[in-house]
Amino acid sequence: MSESRVRRVRAANPSPMTLDGTNTYLIDAGGGDAFVIDPGPALPEHVEAICAEAEDAGWTIGAIAVTHGHPDHAPGAALLAEKTRAPVYAHPEARFPHDFALADWEYITLGETDLRALYAPGHARDHLVFWLEDEATLFTGDVVIGSGTVVVAPPGGDMRVYQATLDRLRREFSNARQIDGGHGESILDPLAKLDEYIAHRKSREREVLETLEAGAATVPAIVARIYAAIPHELWPAAARQVFAYLIALEREGRVKAKTLDRPPSDQEAAILDPDLSRIVDPASRAVASAELGIERGVTTIDEYAFIR
Ligand SMILES: [Zn+2]
Repeated sequence: MSESRVRRVRAANPSPMTLDGTNTYLIDAGGGDAFVIDPGPALPEHVEAICAEAEDAGWTIGAIAVTHGHPDHAPGAALLAEKTRAPVYAHPEARFPHDFALADWEYITLGETDLRALYAPGHARDHLVFWLEDEATLFTGDVVIGSGTVVVAPPGGDMRVYQATLDRLRREFSNARQIDGGHGESILDPLAKLDEYIAHRKSREREVLETLEAGAATVPAIVARIYAAIPHELWPAAARQVFAYLIALEREGRVKAKTLDRPPSDQEAAILDPDLSRIVDPASRAVASAELGIERGVTTIDEYAFIR
């Protein structure tokens, strides 16, 4: 891996959802041109920093590729496009402004380099992963991040679809040497990381099923049982993951839901319908609600049962 071919500029938007901030990548395409992946949030200082990095390297930004539409990844694209006149590339389902929609396995050619896009839904419907074959590097956005796991929360997130994306990356990119994710540090053992992610999802699902085999349970009860070790402020995020598993299991006919004839208690409501200002600072609230897909005004609570 040539050190200088890929440069990272980190946005100043740290939060529990974004780790130290969103990673923007600049890739030398040859011939003086560069790709930018994920211009990040709509922070003018960050867009300035991306342009300064390109100038320092002697590169002209010729294409802007966006992994997905969440507010910590995409809104900077419009600002950067305005400054550089470079076209913006995105998934066909992207709802932010873009010039070109990419098909699965289509590539963007710039300078002497092809940057391949592949559909990678699950965290978000409009998620792309980019493959820089010359360096055997995957740019994974929020599909795989530098540390910890990602949020897979309905309605934008779908657990089975996410698991299929992880399986595909593992199957089709066994020659990958590096993963550069949307947050955190570079991953130098991509296959081990993908195996870890795949196993983690299976073991969490097993825990959800084991809880239900012991008796019907609500989402807050499942969270209290299987996420006992994480700080309680993060339980609302955990609840969204549990929902994602339950939706998948319900769809597969392994679990059924029944709405209880009582409203959620205050404690349950705090997990199902959290006050996000207690989890993140005001500036990060839009990111948190996009990531978590939280529904407001929860008035009912469901109990889930294992179908024998
Ligand atoms: Zn995201």
